[in-house]
Amino acid sequence: MSGLVVDQEKCVGCGLCVRTCTSGGIEVTDRLARVTDGCVSCGMCVDGCPTGALSIQKEAAGTDLASYTDVWVFAQQEAGTIVPVAFELLAKGREVAEARGCRLVAVLGEGTDAPDDNDALLVAAGADLVIRCRDARLADNDAEVYARWIEDLVKERRPEVILYGATPFGRELAPNVAVRLRTGLTADCTVLDVDRERGLLQQTRPAFGGNLMATIVCPDHRPQMSTVRPGVFSAADPDPTHEGTTVDVALDADVTSRIRVLERIPAGSDASITDADTLVVVGRGIGSKKALPLMRELADLLGGKLGCTRPLVEAGWLDASCQVGQTGVSVAPKLLVSVGVSGAIQHLAGIGGAERIVAINTDPSAAIFGMAQYAVVGDANQVVGELVKRLR
Ligand code: FAD
Repeated sequence: MSGLVVDQEKCVGCGLCVRTCTSGGIEVTDRLARVTDGCVSCGMCVDGCPTGALSIQKEAAGTDLASYTDVWVFAQQEAGTIVPVAFELLAKGREVAEARGCRLVAVLGEGTDAPDDNDALLVAAGADLVIRCRDARLADNDAEVYARWIEDLVKERRPEVILYGATPFGRELAPNVAVRLRTGLTADCTVLDVDRERGLLQQTRPAFGGNLMATIVCPDHRPQMSTVRPGVFSAADPDPTHEGTTVDVALDADVTSRIRVLERIPAGSDASITDADTLVVVGRGIGSKKALPLMRELADLLGGKLGCTRPLVEAGWLDASCQVGQTGVSVAPKLLVSVGVSGAIQHLAGIGGAERIVAINTDPSAAIFGMAQYAVVGDANQVVGELVKRLR
């Protein structure tokens, strides 16, 4: 048993813990504090308790690691459609599962009106088993509801590894699950490997501002959990002959959402740069915001989208969803035209998946040229202006 514990002898029912708690995790009834399902074991109430009646009990580390098996991939859906990163994670998860000699399992929560064949898509992408829950409470991506569901599943089925896409929802969900299960989480992994014998997932990610790559392991707790940004791994081609089964599970009746969706505002047109086959990525070298329409025209003529470096987001020229790099998104287009970008390591961390890079920069020694197949030494506006004229 782990989590928040109330010492009934010491508790005086003062209610200070209720006021400290930000997740509705504790209530006072009959002058006694009681832990509710909202508790995420953050420990904030423990420090504030004047009588020392609250404590966080930790499961003894390293006790039962061998009982955890299988690699799980959280198959996030948006309005019933599975997001591309889930397929990328299944391809990587397949490698890890094969190295461990275990099953690859996709975990799919969806609303009752989602397409019937989402599980078949996951099986064709390599899942041996799909754990599916169709429930109206899972239609909206409410991290608290999903976290409760995954927590219950993990306690029952004990997976060794869980991979999540580092989408906005995945970034909210994975830490929530980690706290509930009192296990580790490595965010934004760029490389995943596994120690075959001990089953330790080697989770590599940039650290210290991207100046070194850190490999992180979670030796004493299970499941081992990572998030991976869209575009870091490649999805495998679907294999319709791959066999897998689907098991339908129920969501506990007492799981309720505290969130009410009032309105849905569609993301801007540049929001899906992670899926674009062609990208024009602009940097400070384009000179000014006035150059953006020309850059956007190049992207349009190439049938692609516009991305940018961080300084342009900081200057308010483009939305943060367009930022490519370590603190933006990772992209894997077939063609990336990089315009006026120096190629700082934090930016390069997001473009490693691009098949072809054409870079335009006035400085022949710019680092971006080290990654580009085609280097154009010249002024951004002149070169792009000429390209646009010809493409028109
Ligand atoms: P600059 O470095 O200023 O480069 C401009 C380039 O334009 C130069 O190479 C110059 O030669 C060229 N140029 C100048 N004039 C012209 C012209 N007329 N025509 C053509 N070329 C010209 N950055 C990101 O992009 N994404 C991230 O996710 C990110 N995350 C970060 C995280 C951390 C923790 C830190 C510390 C930094 C991060 N950065 C990120 C910032 C990163 O370090 C760089 O500062 C940034 O990428 C530089 O952007 P830039 O290439 O547009 O600008």
